Amino acid sequence: MSVKTVPVPKKSFLKAFDMSIGSCRGECTCGRQFFNDDGTWDWGEGELESLRADKSATELPYAVSFVQFEDNQYVYDCDCWHVRANQIQAFIDSHLREISNYINAEIIEINQHARHMQTLMVKDFQQ
Ligand SMILES: [Zn+2]
Repeated sequence: MSVKTVPVPKKSFLKAFDMSIGSCRGECTCGRQFFNDDGTWDWGEGELESLRADKSATELPYAVSFVQFEDNQYVYDCDCWHVRANQIQAFIDSHLREISNYINAEIIEINQHARHMQTLMVKDFQQ
């Protein structure tokens, strides 16, 4: 019996949903703890020792970073989010034209709203 591995989402997906923050520790949405002790972080009394004693916590050789989508914050190095990310990525990839049209329509609407608000503000100022 072979173990089926879930592919890591594409770099473009990761770049788009990367929260661009690093931390000494982080809890993934699935509950797994990750931490990094590169010597630059300030730890609470016994905090690092407690993490190292926790068999379910994972020590990383670099800062803990995060990916966020669907109101969930995942640790980048956790693999629990790969299945859902691949589903979202497949949806986006198969509807690029529709998504592009949607975004363009949203931008037009936002710009029209902004122009309308600007007109109202100018009228208020002139009164
Ligand atoms: Zn996870």
